[in-house]
Amino acid sequence: MTKTARWMSVLLILISFGCQNIPAKKKSKLPNIVLIFMDDMGYGDVGSYGAINYQTPNIDQLAAEGMRFTNFYAAQAVCSASRAGLLTGCYPNRIGIVGALMPFSKIGLSDKETTIAQMLKKKGYVTGMTGKWHLGWQKKFLPLQHGFDEFLGLPYSNDMWPYEYDGRPIGKNSKRPWKKKYPQLPLIKGNKKIKEIRGMKYMDSLTYYYTRFAVDFINRHKDKPFFLYIAHSMVHVPLGVTDRFRGKSKQGIFGDVMMEVDWSVGEVLKTLKKNGLEDNTLVIFTSDNGPWLNFGDHAGSTGGLREGKGTSWEGGQREPMIARWPGKIPPGTICNKLSSTIDILPTLAEITGAPLPKLKIDGVSILPLLLGDKKANPRKVFYYYYRRNSLEAVRKGHWKLVFPHTYRSYEGVLPGTGGMPGKYNWDSTGLALYDLRRDPGERYDVKALYPQVVAELQKVADKAREDLGDDLTGKKGKNRRPPGRVE
Ligand code: MG
Repeated sequence: MTKTARWMSVLLILISFGCQNIPAKKKSKLPNIVLIFMDDMGYGDVGSYGAINYQTPNIDQLAAEGMRFTNFYAAQAVCSASRAGLLTGCYPNRIGIVGALMPFSKIGLSDKETTIAQMLKKKGYVTGMTGKWHLGWQKKFLPLQHGFDEFLGLPYSNDMWPYEYDGRPIGKNSKRPWKKKYPQLPLIKGNKKIKEIRGMKYMDSLTYYYTRFAVDFINRHKDKPFFLYIAHSMVHVPLGVTDRFRGKSKQGIFGDVMMEVDWSVGEVLKTLKKNGLEDNTLVIFTSDNGPWLNFGDHAGSTGGLREGKGTSWEGGQREPMIARWPGKIPPGTICNKLSSTIDILPTLAEITGAPLPKLKIDGVSILPLLLGDKKANPRKVFYYYYRRNSLEAVRKGHWKLVFPHTYRSYEGVLPGTGGMPGKYNWDSTGLALYDLRRDPGERYDVKALYPQVVAELQKVADKAREDLGDDLTGKKGKNRRPPGRVE
């Protein structure tokens, strides 16, 4: 063999070897989305946000491998409204969902609104939900009619049942005799009731049921892009936990329940990994509103923020938010920029290329924040609406201007114990300006020092009032839409 021929054969061997090792070009697949939504979990209830007396290693691992937000807000500080905001990208008062819908309520999420599930279906996603829905209990309002292919969960809160908050049947001397008329709490699969949650025995298994559904859903749909919404009923009272976690924390049943939810997060992560989906899945973990503090040892912690659930103070609305998406979100990072659950829908639209809803929404994409762009600041302002349509505060940058209003307070009264509530206090505030960077606890009104900031935030509020109205100032607003109704 000549020298040239020898070189040629070596070259051919190298080329063929190289060819064998060039991986076939992978078809880029849309990322899976797993959205884990807690109930009544406060800013301080996760290890990486300061929880003590119990561990949340799986949620903390999400934070270590992803991004942790410190100025992230639920759309409103109460269950139904908050969920309406999360799923539609709108301030909930824009779409007529206020407060917490009750078992006899005749309204629900309008079929004119577009949910995350409906939006992602346009890109071929399989969509599943497990847990608490709370956007209308009649069939026309249930998840399957709002873009979900599968559903296993409750139509509303786990305390809307003919039992006391601690799970005892309503007795003769109950302070809540009206609850006797509540129907048994239904566990719904698809559109059908498959079980009644009669007492704590079944309540104790809810987190387990939801987790089993979630794991099964991922295993069954591993080959398609999927959107899985896990809306835990916990840690809303009554707190239920399986025997595996009972007594395991140093914070009573509340800590035990957080440990079980953390286990659930771990099961979801394990299942993603087992199916090779870890890298192509965006996992988001957050909560609907702050802790229900008058339940004392059965309530969570705001981590020092003021007040709790049902108030527009920081403890009611600021929530942990953790997002993990390997290769996209820089691991172990913290984002201090302003953002909200209403931003999740437009963020997912940008990620997947799905069209935004036709009707006006309020969310902005926070994808640049997730990708670690330090200069990005997509959300400039946030409106704190509460009750039917009251603009109680606005935030711009690190300033929060609170408008005169009365509110239920957890201060100055003793909370309950053992799963039963203590009384609320009622309080009122005048106009107040808080610098949330120096004073996250909202204790020092500095409006006299910064009149120009007050004027600037008043303009933000005027814009909100013109658009959405405001009961506190008697403004009607131009752009609110009605909820869905049944006759
Ligand atoms: Mg809640």
